[in-house]
Amino acid sequence: MILFPTYFTHKVTDIDAFLLKNLNVTGLILDIDDTLAAPKTQCPGNDIIKWVNSLKNQGIKIILLSNNFKYRVEKFAELIEVPWVSMSFKPFTKGLHKAIKKISCSPKNTILVGDQIFTDVFAANLFNIRSILVDPISKNKSPFLSFKRFLEKPIKKKIYSNSKLNLNRLKPDSNSKYSAEDEN
Ligand SMILES: [Mg+2]
Repeated sequence: MILFPTYFTHKVTDIDAFLLKNLNVTGLILDIDDTLAAPKTQCPGNDIIKWVNSLKNQGIKIILLSNNFKYRVEKFAELIEVPWVSMSFKPFTKGLHKAIKKISCSPKNTILVGDQIFTDVFAANLFNIRSILVDPISKNKSPFLSFKRFLEKPIKKKIYSNSKLNLNRLKPDSNSKYSAEDEN
């Protein structure tokens, strides 16, 4: 299904190097807004900085891929010391192509992480790479985003009811009970 991610989880920090190694992932493409930080937050939180550093130390290559403007993306990327691609126009795949090239990873060893179905997940599926859908950090009230979230709702319900897509299921100590109810 073109709008289904490969996996879902609550937040990016659920993704650890152990999981990524088991999934044969060496490259991580990360959305910024509402995935790593709320859209109005200029700097990544300490948990995100720690998480990015720990993955980098374990040999995972990370790049930011955002539809946002250069000034937002560049500054954010500098603070966590990773490469970046701005104005990527997801779900168009040109930016994804550029990002994968920049980190020199093969598409089959790369996974995209984002909070939106119609941009992040759709782009990953069009480009034929795996994806992880995370919960949006903020309750963004802009009319356009609210409309998108409204359209996402029934799709998300289907996604969350499929336990096979639950990333945390792959963790050895998991008894994760993530369900559609958590979302509402
Ligand atoms: Mg986003």
